[in-house]
Amino acid sequence: MVNPEIEKRKTFAIISHPDAGKTTLTEKFLLFGGAINTAGAVKRNKANQSSTSDFMEIEKQRGISVATSVMGFEYNGKRINILDTPGHKDFAEDTYRTLSAVDSVILVVDCVKGVEEQTEKLMSVCRMRNTPVIIFVNKMDREGKDAFDLLDEIESKLNISLCPLSWPIGQGHTFKGVYSIYNNHLNLFEPDKKKISTPVIEVNSLDDENLAQFLPEKSLSTLKEELELVEGVYGAVDKEMYLEGLLAPVFFGSAINNFGIKELLDTFVNIAPSPKSREAEERTVLATEKNFSGFVFKIHANLDPNHRDRIAFLRICSGKFERNKFFYHTRNNKKIKFSNPMDFMANEKSIVEEAWPGDVVGLYDSGTFKIGDTLTEGEKLQFKGIPSFSPEIFKEVENRDPLKTKQLEKGLQQLTEEGVAQLFVMQPGNRKVIGAVGDLQFEVIAFRLEHEYGAKAHFRMLSYTRSNWVTSKDPKKLEEFLKRKQQHIGEDKDGNPVYLADNEFMINMTMRDYPDIEFHKTSEFK
Ligand code: GDP
Repeated sequence: MVNPEIEKRKTFAIISHPDAGKTTLTEKFLLFGGAINTAGAVKRNKANQSSTSDFMEIEKQRGISVATSVMGFEYNGKRINILDTPGHKDFAEDTYRTLSAVDSVILVVDCVKGVEEQTEKLMSVCRMRNTPVIIFVNKMDREGKDAFDLLDEIESKLNISLCPLSWPIGQGHTFKGVYSIYNNHLNLFEPDKKKISTPVIEVNSLDDENLAQFLPEKSLSTLKEELELVEGVYGAVDKEMYLEGLLAPVFFGSAINNFGIKELLDTFVNIAPSPKSREAEERTVLATEKNFSGFVFKIHANLDPNHRDRIAFLRICSGKFERNKFFYHTRNNKKIKFSNPMDFMANEKSIVEEAWPGDVVGLYDSGTFKIGDTLTEGEKLQFKGIPSFSPEIFKEVENRDPLKTKQLEKGLQQLTEEGVAQLFVMQPGNRKVIGAVGDLQFEVIAFRLEHEYGAKAHFRMLSYTRSNWVTSKDPKKLEEFLKRKQQHIGEDKDGNPVYLADNEFMINMTMRDYPDIEFHKTSEFK
């Protein structure tokens, strides 16, 4: 059963190590898609500013224009949804969650720096879910690594087979453009940072005489030699392998100069997957099913003090989402309807009447949603794929203003539900411990507690650096373990017990001492 509405949707994220060119590429896609008119229109959401106030200023801007979280536009008859991910490593969990809501990704690699730390981490998350990946090697206008060496590096460090679908002509100051292996034509571009440049020449064969006008003899013969080698080494693209996440097509270009972007986008809309199926705890849900289902993967606080509600981002997995229709909130066991669901077409938010699998709608929320919540038409479902990972820094919350205890509790609850960091409750005394990946998260929490909730908190560093979710087939043994290790046990947001440890050694010792207990590095262990 083919539903054209589903087939035309391509929902993906552009990911990269900070500074490789994710924002620039996003902007160029919007430019090609006609969603914006000039470069510079996409807000940079980069949080590499060192001070918290700078960071909060950016967050504030983002909070007000939440549209930048999802950018939808039409291109070649397809509906493209780009989901934005934060660049800063302290917000990696936010990125991982967003990756649970896409059907594929484009991974940007800087040709000068090659594969970087975040590139590897992001790739490992893609691999967990077999997400199809296209690689864009950016900044070819700079003197970077040799194309063949770079492919070797990507292949070995990211542990994925590659297949170049375009090939650069020269590099750095000799960079002339790209040859599209996929479409068999050559496009030479003039560097232009502001608008879409028109191709100087399009040919269908490297033997075309006109080429000599544009390419020096030497470049042309090098290109021919290299293409022969590419074909010999990498062969033709195997689309099935790409869709299974086993093979990544590679494109070369320069985002800032519009080099190679159109090839990338055109091929992307051709081969990238439309929404297919999603795993729920109970069963696999097909996109083509008649009944609606979807899950919340992100909650964004509205930092405008006049609008204290939040926006929950819902990814639609099956059926049709409709405005003002009652849907079933499976965790709360309640029916709710949405009178102002938001759509994010052309970088603007507007009220949406209906939406389809692959689409993301923004729902105004006054505290009903937690990340991971599922909505259906009545079936009890819980979508999988949004695990919590072990934080690396743990700090106990100390209340600095006893008159504002309620505000503090509420703030901590809401901020951790938004996924800013993880909250663990420890006994005795209901002590609250925040677990995070980076210090910036604590600064953001402190700042937001004060400015949005009027509460003052201080964080006291604890010695833990690992958390493991614990289960056992024998409930008695688990109970005994939890009692014995009480000072190391916290309860996560869903009430599951978590064992907090100072280091890997301590976990290994405990595992040895308690063979009946199972230890899990992520919260999703079923
Ligand atoms: P992000 O952190 O991955 O979003 O990276 P940005 O898109 O903000 O780009 C980081 C820097 O690299 C910016 O200064 C861009 O202008 C620059 N940049 C992006 N693409 C290119 C390119 O193709 N060539 C060159 N030389 N610089 C680029």
